[in-house]
Amino acid sequence: MTQSRPRDDSERQSCWVCFATEEDDTEAAWVRPCRCRGTTKWVHQSCLQRWVDEKQKGNSTAKVACPQCNTEYIIIFPKLGQYGPVVYLMDIADKIIYKTCPFVAGGMFIGSVYWTAVTYGAVTVMQVLGHKEGLNVMERADPLFLLIGLPTIPVMLILGKMVRWEDYILRLWRKHSAKLPLINYLWPDEYSRSSRVPAETVPLSDPISATRVLCGALILPTIATIVGKLMFGSVQSNFQRTLLGGIAFIAIKGVLKIYYKQSQYHRQANRVILDYEEDRTPATSISSSSVGSQ
Ligand SMILES: [Zn+2]
Ligand SMILES: [Zn+2]
Repeated sequence: MTQSRPRDDSERQSCWVCFATEEDDTEAAWVRPCRCRGTTKWVHQSCLQRWVDEKQKGNSTAKVACPQCNTEYIIIFPKLGQYGPVVYLMDIADKIIYKTCPFVAGGMFIGSVYWTAVTYGAVTVMQVLGHKEGLNVMERADPLFLLIGLPTIPVMLILGKMVRWEDYILRLWRKHSAKLPLINYLWPDEYSRSSRVPAETVPLSDPISATRVLCGALILPTIATIVGKLMFGSVQSNFQRTLLGGIAFIAIKGVLKIYYKQSQYHRQANRVILDYEEDRTPATSISSSSVGSQ
């Protein structure tokens, strides 16, 4: 290396890590790894190696730059070939595995979700049609049709659950409530005739309501089967009975939900903010008593 100990440098050479000069250690290898001039131009090869190790924190491929001028250090390694073909091939294999693993893991995740959906679809078909008939239908069906059709069952249930038809009916109802005396009979305005319009609640805004949609959608066939058996026991066809049960359940739940939501809406619309009075609020009395006991 011709540049490791240049004689034409007018300034006194000193290492910016250990502050030693050329006279302190005549054997040490020097390097000027960046654009810096003056006191931070020169550094011992070994001092900079230590400093790079510290910055990389064990990640030997991490890029390190000069803290002063931000020039990225050029770090080169001895050629892999000189360690023999085994090391060379293993290095290539290591890089390939490192790059492909995220994709393989992602694929396995998607695959397992897919097969869960297929299984769920098959269970649902047997539940709705009855065990024997369900198996018969699936055996007679085209395998390709099953592989596409079965996983769409949970997808359709979830999409169906996301249709908020109750909200739509409620909005229509509120719009025309003046013409319907029933709404004023069920939820009379207590405080003022001109009650405010509450802020809209955002649907599916938090993960809890998303899991609620998921659970509600996936349990629907089970509930439909139970309701069908309870309410339409006389219907012979499994499919018709479950379908009727499902429709009945959705209708009953919808009506209850509309009633609940309208009640909540009414509470929001008629809320009142009270005057502040020192001795009436319970919070103040608690804090004053705790202050007194100290
Ligand atoms: Zn040094
Ligand atoms: Zn620099």
